[in-house]
Amino acid sequence: MPECIFCGIAARQLPAAVVHEDEHTIAFDALNPAAPLHVLVVPKRHVASLSEADPELAGRLAAASAKVALAAGYGERGYRVLTNVGPDGGQSVFHLHFHVLAGRSLGWPPG
Ligand code: 5GP
Ligand code: ZN
Repeated sequence: MPECIFCGIAARQLPAAVVHEDEHTIAFDALNPAAPLHVLVVPKRHVASLSEADPELAGRLAAASAKVALAAGYGERGYRVLTNVGPDGGQSVFHLHFHVLAGRSLGWPPG
């Protein structure tokens, strides 16, 4: 069993509500949703944060995030894609993930 939660989900050894999967990425519902749509898009291989991601992987995650939001019907109303990095960024799981949030008006700036 991998020690990293998201590696475990990517390997299908831990349960998650998977909404999208391709060769390099997997997307699943966040455990504690912050909006009606709150999906996490993660690389299948372990990468700690955006700081360690190569441009190809970052692009794949961004493209998969848009795909998830559009497939859920939020193309018109809009959505937000973000990734938290490090302590001040609010990162709590150290396997890179893009949050896809939608379904309510999202405040700006974030807290
Ligand atoms: P961060 O604070 O690192 O940016 O975001 C961590 C995200 O991981 C949060 O949205 C939280 O709900 C989610 N999360 C933490 N543990 C689990 C888990 O075991 N399963 C799922 N599906 N999401 C998790
Ligand atoms: Zn991992």
